Amino acid sequence: MSKETLRVTEIFYSLQGEGATVGIPTTFIRLTGCPLRCEYCDTKYAFYGGKTLGIDDIMQQVESLGARYINVTGGEPLSQKRVHLLMKRLCDDNYQVSLETSGAIDVSNVDSRVSKVLDVKTPGSSEDEKNNHDNYSYLTYNDQVKYVICSEHDYNWSKDHLLEHDLNNRCPVLFSPCVGQLEPQQLADWLLSAKLPAAKFPVRFQIQLHKYLWGDTPGK
Ligand code: SF4
Repeated sequence: MSKETLRVTEIFYSLQGEGATVGIPTTFIRLTGCPLRCEYCDTKYAFYGGKTLGIDDIMQQVESLGARYINVTGGEPLSQKRVHLLMKRLCDDNYQVSLETSGAIDVSNVDSRVSKVLDVKTPGSSEDEKNNHDNYSYLTYNDQVKYVICSEHDYNWSKDHLLEHDLNNRCPVLFSPCVGQLEPQQLADWLLSAKLPAAKFPVRFQIQLHKYLWGDTPGK
């Protein structure tokens, strides 16, 4: 039993819309609060409010939803320190846990069993100065880096950024067009014509499956 609590916006069951586990039924735990204000944020409703839940309550809800894949998201989940207790409980119970993070907050103490999905902030977010470059040294093949690309400037910036920090030799790298700002085909064309240098993890194009299925509603 734990008396620790977290501020939670929602817990729901849906398909993973992005990354290495796209399409897999997943339980999402969306924690409340974020210190960033990205231009393209589609979860502003998670900035404030939510409800206080005990970690035991969260574990019960997760168990009742039945998925083995759990995505801890936000907001910025690392803005609540007790998220580490929750992720440890989930891993100890043999869930496959991933963490969506802005990359602005230190990830050094994230449980090594958790797959980190680090969202590098592009200039189009207006929050690129918040990128914490020290975080890159904690990335492993079990993690992912994601660039949300809003324009050709973002695309060129992202290519330079990943090469400068050698990120695609650390973990898989995803380039994702910003919905409503960049046509997916345009990004696909740029990527195919770029012929980026060979790397351990070639850059992978992705679109957000959930947006195509359900629009701005995160899931069912
Ligand atoms: S880090 Fe994520 S939740 Fe926070 S403002 Fe940016 S997109 Fe929104």
